[in-house]
Amino acid sequence: EGFVIAIDGPSGSGKSSTAKGVARARDLKYLDTGAMYRAMTWWMLTHGIDVSDPEAVAEAAPRPVITMGIDPDAPTVHVDGVDVAQEIRTDIVTANVSAVSAVPRVREILVARQREIIAEACATSPGIVVEGRDITTVVAPEAPVKLFLTASADARAQRRSREMQSTDVMATREALVRRDQLDSTRAVAPLTQTPDAIELDTTGLTLDEVIALVVKLADE
Ligand code: C5P
Repeated sequence: EGFVIAIDGPSGSGKSSTAKGVARARDLKYLDTGAMYRAMTWWMLTHGIDVSDPEAVAEAAPRPVITMGIDPDAPTVHVDGVDVAQEIRTDIVTANVSAVSAVPRVREILVARQREIIAEACATSPGIVVEGRDITTVVAPEAPVKLFLTASADARAQRRSREMQSTDVMATREALVRRDQLDSTRAVAPLTQTPDAIELDTTGLTLDEVIALVVKLADE
């Protein structure tokens, strides 16, 4: 029986780096569910689907085949066999991912895939760290460790800018706050903090400190 650590939080809260670090420290697999919504969005954009039309998105949603590599040392994402690791991080995908991920059919399909990946990882390895927006609430609410990472908007914008090697922190902050607003107000599975998830404010902490805290929680 594999062990599941579920991590939710807004963009730039440190979910991905934390989840990867904890997975490495405890020999667990790692699943970035945001990458799956990004892959779906990239596919829609490259196939000429009007992403502002929820019906068009819903109809096309079953078509892309999204495959995830869940080794925390080398996570991968493929769509129809094509490696899209770079493509899914572009501004155009980031700007459109909230619209695509608000479509219920998209979530049904990706949540089902995520549960399959989790079940498979639990059957064949010590377990998995899963991060996203609805992992503690929808995808794996029964996970023994559930965390909600937060950080101030300034800290999150700074981290994102560093990641993206962008110098315009204000523009990054604006885009990030806008995306969080969309993600937390959508009708289906909005980003919400549930009382049974442990909140961790990472604003004044280093990545190593956050990883150590989570590993300690997982060991309890
Ligand atoms: O984590 P990341 O910022 O890469 O996620 C990209 C987008 O995917 C989020 O802004 C959100 O719209 C969507 N997402 C989601 N549910 C998840 C993970 C991501 O709706 N579990």
